[in-house]
Amino acid sequence: MNEERSRSWEVVVVGSVNADLVVGVERRPAPGETVLGSDLATLPGGKGANQAVAAARLGGRVGIVGRIGDDGHGELLRGALAADGVDLAHLTVTEGAPSGVALITIGPDGDNSIIVSPGANARLAPEDIAAAADMIGRASVVSFQLEVPLPAVEAAARAAAEAGARVVLNLSPPAPVPDELLGRCDPLVVNEHEAAYLLGGARESAAETAAALVRSGARSVVVTLGAEGVVVADGEGASAVPSPKAEAVDTTGAGDAFTAALCLRLARGDSLRDAARYATRAGAAAVRKKGAQSSYPTPDELPDPPG
Ligand code: ADP
Repeated sequence: MNEERSRSWEVVVVGSVNADLVVGVERRPAPGETVLGSDLATLPGGKGANQAVAAARLGGRVGIVGRIGDDGHGELLRGALAADGVDLAHLTVTEGAPSGVALITIGPDGDNSIIVSPGANARLAPEDIAAAADMIGRASVVSFQLEVPLPAVEAAARAAAEAGARVVLNLSPPAPVPDELLGRCDPLVVNEHEAAYLLGGARESAAETAAALVRSGARSVVVTLGAEGVVVADGEGASAVPSPKAEAVDTTGAGDAFTAALCLRLARGDSLRDAARYATRAGAAAVRKKGAQSSYPTPDELPDPPG
């Protein structure tokens, strides 16, 4: 059995778990005003949980390190992760804290306005990472986003790297990245907005953006470009990877599906380019259905690669 296969988890996600509370509105209320909306939909979300579910649904052995509140939303969120077989040994219930919530209004054109209340996610701390050291250390790939506090992300990335696990960071929502953390990213996954944030401005092309991010310290970089696919780059150079065409119904959570699939294939030994080629199929599948987790594919639901 080789080193990759002997690790107990292919992907461990250190990240957020939120309940998405979604209401459709004809228009948003002005300050002091009340408007009526559609029925409330309560859906499992949070970038960490989305990635864990996406990787598990594609057949991965997946664990999550995170925090939920001791409330009804916490029960719902735990149930959604369990239904896809995610290992929940380090999903901690936080006494006296509400679960993270995203308050989402959807306007008549499908446009989103979102308020995130981090709740229990904000309590994820280096102590949680120490408690999960065994899981993190026996992962092939450890995946991060920035909806949980940076000290927890830094501690987990350090533990992962020291144990020989590959670190993947999706810079969402965008925030400054300490050099040590950036230097562990293999790859850093960003869309064009997040890349421009990190570089202090846009570059001429996605390839130049990716190359600039490698020069700034990331070991490798993936720039996601929506329907266009992605550009991957490492010290050897940059190249474009197209996405399959898809009739986009709802792009919510497509980036999370992409990153999860990328992590899974890297865990299975693919090159970054091959993993990205597979992952664009998961991203494209995710835009064809409504919702985030509800849109994630099983392997037989993946569209064919382009051309
Ligand atoms: P984010 O949501 O993080 O901004 P993107 O919108 O770039 O991420 O989407 C991630 C990936 O999902 C893309 O690289 C692509 O493979 C796929 N994808 C997203 N939107 C579409 C689309 N309209 N058609 C086909 N694939 C898409």
